[in-house]
Amino acid sequence: MDDCIFCQIVAGDIPSRTVYEDDDVLAFLDANPLAPGHTLVIPKDHHESLNDLPADLGSAVFAAMHELTPEVEAAVDAPASTVAFNNGEEAGQEVPHVHAHIVPRFADDGGRPIHALVSDRPDLSDDELDDIAATIRD
Ligand code: 5GP
Ligand code: ZN
Repeated sequence: MDDCIFCQIVAGDIPSRTVYEDDDVLAFLDANPLAPGHTLVIPKDHHESLNDLPADLGSAVFAAMHELTPEVEAAVDAPASTVAFNNGEEAGQEVPHVHAHIVPRFADDGGRPIHALVSDRPDLSDDELDDIAATIRD
């Protein structure tokens, strides 16, 4: 994907502060960090969202995230982190090349938890919850 920023980083056409690399995965510091150590973990191949990502690459990305998260926290002396994907445009994904964010978190950093993603939670009945669970299972 010639016009994809992250593919250009993988190709070495745009510089990045790389912190991890293997055959399938690259991780580098976010250029506009939410916290010191804010790291992005990407598959080297271009796939737009998690939904498009082949299972083996999903495993490779997760393995790298799993290995990197404690290292990123330790590097900036963070006691915690938020690890997340903006999966699709409506979820806030701006770069259409799947990437995990590892955002170090600190006491009183003013950040919010995943529970603060939406301001109006849906009021779902037990039946509606049962239906949704059944649909996902099917
Ligand atoms: P998204 O909103 O798509 O989940 O996040 C995209 C992230 O990529 C943002 O946090 C943004 O700061 C970061 N980003 C965008 N362009 C570049 C770039 O050229 N280099 C690096 N290192 N990060 C970038
Ligand atoms: Zn790409």
